Amino acid sequence: MIGVLDLQGGVVEHLDHLKRLGLAGLRVKKPSEISNLAGIIIPGGESTCLFRLLTISGMKEAIVREFQQGMKIFGTCAGAILLAKTVIGESPCLALIDIEVERNSFGSQMDSFFCEALVPRVSSMPVPLTFIRAPKIKKIGPGVDILLKIGNYIAAAESPDVLVTIFHPELAGSLAFHRYFAHKCGLKTIKEGRSMDDPTWNAKSWTQFARVAD
Ligand code: GLN
Repeated sequence: MIGVLDLQGGVVEHLDHLKRLGLAGLRVKKPSEISNLAGIIIPGGESTCLFRLLTISGMKEAIVREFQQGMKIFGTCAGAILLAKTVIGESPCLALIDIEVERNSFGSQMDSFFCEALVPRVSSMPVPLTFIRAPKIKKIGPGVDILLKIGNYIAAAESPDVLVTIFHPELAGSLAFHRYFAHKCGLKTIKEGRSMDDPTWNAKSWTQFARVAD
């Protein structure tokens, strides 16, 4: 099973993508909910807020503990910031992948943008990329591979146990990155080998998972 860290940020969009791959995604809020996961997704949102909530809830230690026992982690945007070993000008949070990131590196929310790129290790077709007040990965250390470089920055990278993207693959119809992460976790998905795009996805698909805050 793959969990989605449910403290703040874009949780439901990830649950929607996992469901489309035939995977039951589990919302994870408390340390008691994290055991025996094959992987966890740390969504985008606001990394300062998530940093605090991870600390207060005890989830920071719980994630590190499960990681040491083999759980894989996928961080998107703020999730990538939280996983980075080095955050320029700030303290790192989980520090589980040797990358250096710079927050808000494209500018303000107004500088958010969409593009497409080929990520050969992840899909044979171009993947849609949504950047929202994104960080840049500036450097990688030993044991980390670049999956996508655009100009002078790295947009996606991985170590054997951690996958990071500075964009939001959950905000478009392509399931390619989520399928790639599922495989990293040793899980099979439905529609193996078929098109990476899900024609039934639309920008409101996530609303099926929306609920009143509890
Ligand atoms: N700018 C946010 C931060 O620094 C990240 C934005 C996002 O996750 N889309 O935490």
